[in-house]
Amino acid sequence: PDYDVLVVGSANADLTVRVDRRPGPGETVTGGDLVESAGGKGANQAAAAARLGARTALLARVGDDAYGQLLLDAQRRAGTDVRHVLVERGARTGTATIVVGPDGDNAIVVSPGANARLSPADVTAARALVAASAVVSLQLEVPARTVRAAATVAAEEGARVVFNPSPAPERIDEQVLAVADPLVVNEHEARQLSQGEGNTAEEWAAALRHCGARSVVVTLGAEGALVLGADGRRPVRVPGVPAEVVDTTGAGDAFTGALAVRLAGGASLEEAARYAVRVGAAAVTRPGAQPSYPTARELDRQPATG
Ligand code: ATP
Repeated sequence: PDYDVLVVGSANADLTVRVDRRPGPGETVTGGDLVESAGGKGANQAAAAARLGARTALLARVGDDAYGQLLLDAQRRAGTDVRHVLVERGARTGTATIVVGPDGDNAIVVSPGANARLSPADVTAARALVAASAVVSLQLEVPARTVRAAATVAAEEGARVVFNPSPAPERIDEQVLAVADPLVVNEHEARQLSQGEGNTAEEWAAALRHCGARSVVVTLGAEGALVLGADGRRPVRVPGVPAEVVDTTGAGDAFTGALAVRLAGGASLEEAARYAVRVGAAAVTRPGAQPSYPTARELDRQPATG
């Protein structure tokens, strides 16, 4: 393949403001300076993969506004091939307005903008790109029908699908689930998607594989991750790597991007998860989503106790 990782997904400008006190309904509070940075699950995962040195492409939509430019610049700096980022005239780029409270707790409003117009036709038009990619990474910040089209085309073209069903839907699309190898979920998504079945990551992973996923990875924050492979063996826990936490924003996307990189390189799911846990741990030590992602060289300088 020409590409290790193709990400089909969202690109958002993250607009972050800190407040001492959260405003109630009808109330105004004064916050700190607005910080604009590159985000969105799709763009984050692409940036994570590209910074690690993988040949990475992004299929996404942005508007022809300043935020679209910010997102394109960030991808170029990371090393992503952005020729398939569609810049839509007159459209607004997606944004996530993030209000960070005094305890570091986030309240987020997403305005999808151009992300809402990433279409199945955009995916079919990029069939050759899918065919040229080892791994296709999908999330749910673009229309469900587009994700389904990407999963179908990836399966037809023999690309491996990494599927991160986030934000967690009411019900998970069976067609996408059936090609997910792996399904990547955090604990919150695992609990919600296994619909009350089970109390441990092992039980959630088993329930999700029972629902049709080929393999499952549950990320466990500081505790690392749990891997349930397609080979029918028992689940394996990959321990976390200790890190000084500055900001966990985008840690899950760093994990998923890194996982895709190693799977594209032919690693086993467990090996890939060990690497992804290290990348996730590195990402929490710096602020922001994409700006926090390590390069391969920076990762080598981190202690690998995982
Ligand atoms: P986020 O929503 O913050 O992007 P998430 O909830 O999707 O994250 P997590 O399971 O919290 O996903 O974290 C993903 C990965 O990031 C973990 O598997 C781990 O590698 C790393 N990580 C997250 N939090 C910590 C932490 N406190 N210490 C070390 N590593 C961490």
